[in-house]
Amino acid sequence: IAKIYTDKDVTLDIIKGKKIAVLGYGSQGRAWALNLRDSGLNVTVGLERQGKSWDQATADGFKPEKTEDAVKKADVVIFLVPDMAQRLVYRERVQPYLREGMDLVFAHGFNIHYRLIEPPKNVDVYMVAPKGPGPIVRDFYTKGGGVPVLVAVHQNYSGKAMEKALAIAKGLGGTRAGAIETTFKEETETDLIGEQTILVGGVMELMKSAFETLVEMGYQPEVAYFETINELKMIVDLIYDKGFMGMLRAVSDTAKYGGFTVGKHVINEETRRRIREAAEKVRSGKFAEEWIEEYGRGSPTLQKGMEDMDKSMEEQTGRRLKEIIERGKPKA
Ligand code: NDP
Ligand code: MG
Ligand code: MG
Repeated sequence: IAKIYTDKDVTLDIIKGKKIAVLGYGSQGRAWALNLRDSGLNVTVGLERQGKSWDQATADGFKPEKTEDAVKKADVVIFLVPDMAQRLVYRERVQPYLREGMDLVFAHGFNIHYRLIEPPKNVDVYMVAPKGPGPIVRDFYTKGGGVPVLVAVHQNYSGKAMEKALAIAKGLGGTRAGAIETTFKEETETDLIGEQTILVGGVMELMKSAFETLVEMGYQPEVAYFETINELKMIVDLIYDKGFMGMLRAVSDTAKYGGFTVGKHVINEETRRRIREAAEKVRSGKFAEEWIEEYGRGSPTLQKGMEDMDKSMEEQTGRRLKEIIERGKPKA
């Protein structure tokens, strides 16, 4: 059974006076910097260059500094630049300025688990991994809630690494929900498996397959979009609020019967075999190797994926329907 911590188990004190450098101001970086600051912690933002992030951080009331300047003054360094950029940022801007007793904090275990970053023995290395996108981490916090987080310790030089991980989790709002104790290995592997097979890859391809099939069969793209893409949010919201049973109670008996019989036909043993295959590829390190190689070549596959999706009929249809979708959203 997993160990889960909530607000009442955790105090911010251990991290309160410390200087925290948040490196990167993107999806997670902005959410962390703002939430930690609003929780009364001492945050500076460290960035590599002038540009969008620099301007956004400034607009949010931070005085961003060059990465190494933020690191030199920091007690706690949080890596919120893209996973593939972390190794170089570590090597060039962090490692030369490391002092005994500093903390290196990650939001995902990739670089530590696959040994792209190998910190010296005299620092703490721990992780607070939000189980949600950065903008949601911020949105939930400002509305009094919090996105659940995973916490893990890789290196415990001070003997207090877990206490500090939990304090940061609390500062983020994570313990308002719950912080689940895990390991770098478990977080890294499950995160990659989840995003590939369901959250990003699986769901996106399933929606695309259904949408494109309906359009090929001559149904109007607008009707197909509402059915196979837009409505998924409502179904997922029901599962989120009330579980599968809650969702099933809200849909028609016809939908339940069709769902039980046809779902297993579409997502079958072959699909499970492939989920397993993807998971094994993550576990063996083969996926990490492949992604590092792709990144080394300038991420051509990633870029092509973004371009193709941007031009796709589902995106075009979605943009056309944006106004209707916006108008229909609940107010307040
Ligand atoms: P982003 O892609 O949003 O990070 C962008 C930030 O990093 C920007 O400030 C950008 O600056 C800077 N940056 C981009 N490229 C480089 C580079 N080559 N060198 C230095 N800085 C760079 O990252 P995420 O927030 O998605 O991810 C951060 C960490 O959080 C990762 O470890 C990720 O796995 C983890 N995580 C992310 C989640 C998410 O919701 N996205 C969920 C849970 C964990 P500029 O504007 O100047 O380009
Ligand atoms: Mg994730
Ligand atoms: Mg991830």
